[in-house]
Amino acid sequence: MEIRILEETCTGCELCIPSCPFGALTMEDRLPGAPPPPPDSVTAKVARVWESCVDCDLCLPVCPPVAILHDRPEGTAAVPSTPGSGILVAGDLGPTGLRPSTRRVLRRARELANTLGCFLTCLLTPRVDPGTACKDAIACGADRVLLVDATDTNPEDGLGLPALLAPILAKEQPEIVLFPDSIRAAALAPRLAERLGAGLASPCHEVDLDLSTRQLLQRVPLFKGLGLGELVCAATRPQMAVLRTHQLPDPMPDGSRDGEIVQWNLRAEI
Ligand code: SF4
Ligand code: SF4
Repeated sequence: MEIRILEETCTGCELCIPSCPFGALTMEDRLPGAPPPPPDSVTAKVARVWESCVDCDLCLPVCPPVAILHDRPEGTAAVPSTPGSGILVAGDLGPTGLRPSTRRVLRRARELANTLGCFLTCLLTPRVDPGTACKDAIACGADRVLLVDATDTNPEDGLGLPALLAPILAKEQPEIVLFPDSIRAAALAPRLAERLGAGLASPCHEVDLDLSTRQLLQRVPLFKGLGLGELVCAATRPQMAVLRTHQLPDPMPDGSRDGEIVQWNLRAEI
């Protein structure tokens, strides 16, 4: 955790508390020996950062006296994310492996991950041996494939998946979750967003980034497709979007890419 509160500067205004999508900020009493509150303080309490902080920087711009600091290691400009954060693509499997729509979303997600300097995870929920799909996902840009056994869920309607995946995403804490447009995503994405209390844009014609805030710019059709509007999830995480894929280019798979394949053991994790 690289976020720190300057206790001698914090006025206790509480503006930062709702800005944290991960619940990592609270107001606490000052500890004995801590710096006294500044003269313009509104309370004797001080903001505190907890271990659930993922160093996303969303709280920094909301603090009027600039009492929240990001102590970056020397020489690092951007915030590198851990394998458990970054971007996650909830991929679809077909009878012969990754569906083409998932491969296209992985390509776009790889570009976004390169821009953010973060990890890209492809989440797959196979009901049978996924075969070469994991290696294909890595060749298309994933740094890691997360396999979650979905044997007990219906693969078509996605109705059992939200309950299965919500605790996994809550633990993984991705900044961004992307879905390829599909019948399964239409059922899964809104239910998952509701369980996570996250914002969802669906369908998006395209997605981009505001690097200054690490916000996902989600371009959605307006007026029966005559125009595009831009949505952002200002205060909730993850930022979730279902991406239209027919206009996205196919990836050029790189079979020499390295990646990790992780089998999620739900019972061991929660
Ligand atoms: S850096 Fe992000 S996760 Fe950490 S306290 Fe600020 S808003 Fe919350
Ligand atoms: S850290 Fe900044 S925004 Fe948060 S309570 Fe202190 S002064 Fe207010």
